[in-house]
Amino acid sequence: MRLPLRLFPPLPAPVRTASSVPAGKLDFVPACSTTDARSLELLQDFVSRFRRLFVVTGAGLSTESGIPDYRSEGVGLYARTDRRPMQHLEFTGSGRSRQRYWARNFVGWPQFSSHQPNCAHRALRSWEDSGKLHWLVTQNVDALHSKAGQRRLTELHGCAHRVTCLGCGTITPREDLQRRFVSLNPDWSAQAGAVAPDGDVFLEDEQVLNFRVPFCEQCGGVLKPEVTFFGDTVNKATVQFVHKRLAEADAVLVVGSSLQVFSGYRFLLAASDRKMPIAILNIGPTRADHLAELKVKGRCGEVLSVIQPL
Ligand SMILES: [Zn+2]
Repeated sequence: MRLPLRLFPPLPAPVRTASSVPAGKLDFVPACSTTDARSLELLQDFVSRFRRLFVVTGAGLSTESGIPDYRSEGVGLYARTDRRPMQHLEFTGSGRSRQRYWARNFVGWPQFSSHQPNCAHRALRSWEDSGKLHWLVTQNVDALHSKAGQRRLTELHGCAHRVTCLGCGTITPREDLQRRFVSLNPDWSAQAGAVAPDGDVFLEDEQVLNFRVPFCEQCGGVLKPEVTFFGDTVNKATVQFVHKRLAEADAVLVVGSSLQVFSGYRFLLAASDRKMPIAILNIGPTRADHLAELKVKGRCGEVLSVIQPL
């Protein structure tokens, strides 16, 4: 199909200032500068051809909400800092590691929890409303899809807004734990200037030593974010559930993920085995580029906001 003409004015268009662009088309203007019209048209064709899209999202979707990803060249956490994500065994095996982790998480929480969905999250929510999106699997733990109102959603790696007890499995809101941190550590403070955009902060060991970490109120067990740390595996029942949703879909769209982590990549392998068409929207290269019939380079929000769920 052809895109509605209003999305693609004849080129070359005169240079227009923002004030001359109707408010409803502002979203289109930046998209034109980074992703060419032909790529947008091909992606629109892909989205229009299928009725039950299985969408996989990753950190690239949330960078436009101010949350950095891990691997982007120059701007990702790995490139900018020497910080690395918490490893599962480090967290479960060391009280000192947990104390350091929670102290940093406590300081970063007000900022991290305040991030809001961007137009990419809102676009995918609207695709769900219009019946275009069959299921969405995200590797993100930032809750931005659920904040946008997405319901047909699996958070593959859990969610940082929930806390689980390693003893009894009770799930509690992260916000409740923040209140317990405050009451247990009334005189404890850290320098807020060191807060990183992902909620992690750097603290000196002396600062961490006095931070008190509460245990589960039900059983006294160790509390952990309900997040799959590196070195841990995704719950098998969750993986099986997602495979079923994939089998019900008719095409796969990857948005903002390099798919370097196997937990997400496995669904691309399964889709390829099923001969399902695959499209990828991402700024950089991905592990599944060779499996895709279409690869579009671009910012998720800019591109998705001009794609219609027709
Ligand atoms: Zn417990």
